[in-house]
Amino acid sequence: MSSKNGQFYLFANWKMYLDFDESNILANALAQNTKKFSKNIKMAVFPSALSLYSVGQVLNDIGVAVGAQNLYWVEKGGYTGEISAQMYKAAGCQYALVGHSERRHLFKETNDEVRKKLESALSCGLTPVLCVGETDKQRADNRAQEVVTEQLQTALSGLAWPEGRELIVAYEPVWAIGTGNNCIASDAQTMHEFIKKELEKILFKSSPVLLYGGSVRGNNVAEYLSQTDIHGVLVGGASAKLDSWLEIVERAVF
Ligand code: PEP
Repeated sequence: MSSKNGQFYLFANWKMYLDFDESNILANALAQNTKKFSKNIKMAVFPSALSLYSVGQVLNDIGVAVGAQNLYWVEKGGYTGEISAQMYKAAGCQYALVGHSERRHLFKETNDEVRKKLESALSCGLTPVLCVGETDKQRADNRAQEVVTEQLQTALSGLAWPEGRELIVAYEPVWAIGTGNNCIASDAQTMHEFIKKELEKILFKSSPVLLYGGSVRGNNVAEYLSQTDIHGVLVGGASAKLDSWLEIVERAVF
């Protein structure tokens, strides 16, 4: 099994699947199942912005971090409907997803905007989880590595990575997200190895935490975690239900 400093990263993106009550019910159920969480798991949950604070109050006590699903790069001002990195930090977040494919593709977020979000997260002490990945068309056109390289370069070139801050990149091929069509583990490993080398070139030195995301389930998680350069998983649909999430946790460590 492959881990980062002895820990597997299991990150749960609840997307917009759960309302306030449902989020709190799931958080409490997770807290009651803490005995199932092994010490070598680093877990974080990304609830909706509305439920993030109350979920954090429950989960922080059992060593589970919370993170933002998105953020805006200006700290304060007339930006109706937006929430800044600083506000998320003050509400108890440790992490923030930046460049999730649903943001990039449904909301037309550009690589430049992802960069601003990442910088803003870094500046206030959040750890960004930079999401990258190609569409099925780009993969079919043999452009997957080119697309991912551009996403990494625009987000990270010229940055001085803060000392001690985790560098987390999630490889999430767009065609695998929410489709049940997960990427073959060895193909994901090939891309992770490529990403690791690109990060070394861009940031000169780096020891990244690399997550795979895209239709991860209990029946495939162990295969991903057995790959050399896959240190954890970012899970959407299967993380928003207690049973399927606990199955992932159990299969990840046993
Ligand atoms: C995600 O949204 O980050 C994700 C990986 O979704 P799913 O697990 O549902 O494919």
